[in-house]
Amino acid sequence: MARWTPRPDGGRPEGRECVHIETAEPEATPQSVVCRQCVVLGHDWVALRVCLTCGYVGCCDSSRHGHATAHFESSGHPLMRSAEHGDEWAWCFVDELYLQPCDVSRASTG
Ligand SMILES: [Zn+2]
Ligand SMILES: [Zn+2]
Ligand SMILES: [Zn+2]
Repeated sequence: MARWTPRPDGGRPEGRECVHIETAEPEATPQSVVCRQCVVLGHDWVALRVCLTCGYVGCCDSSRHGHATAHFESSGHPLMRSAEHGDEWAWCFVDELYLQPCDVSRASTG
C-alpha cells in the first residue's frame, strides 16, 4: 500500500501523478543523520533528504553540493523525503512532484 500521495498543492496543477509511490518499497531506515559526503568535504549543508529506496542521506538543492539530487542522478532512486524534524513531505525527482503522507491528507494546514 502506498504510504505517500501527491500533494494537492504539489506544484502540478495539471494533475500529474507519480507512479513511483505505487511501487515504492517500505521506507528505508536513514543510513546516517548527516550528509556524509559533506562531512568528508568539511562543508555545511542547509537541510537533509532521505532516499526512500535505500536510506541514503544527502543535502538538499539549497545546500552547497546538492548531494540528494546527485544521489538520484547516480542511482535512479526517484523518491526522497525531508529529513528535517517536523517536515512531512517527500519529493519525486522523476515527476518533479511533492508528496505527502497518506494519513495527513485530511489534516488542515490552514
Ligand atoms: Zn514519481
Ligand atoms: Zn552534501
Ligand atoms: Zn537511494
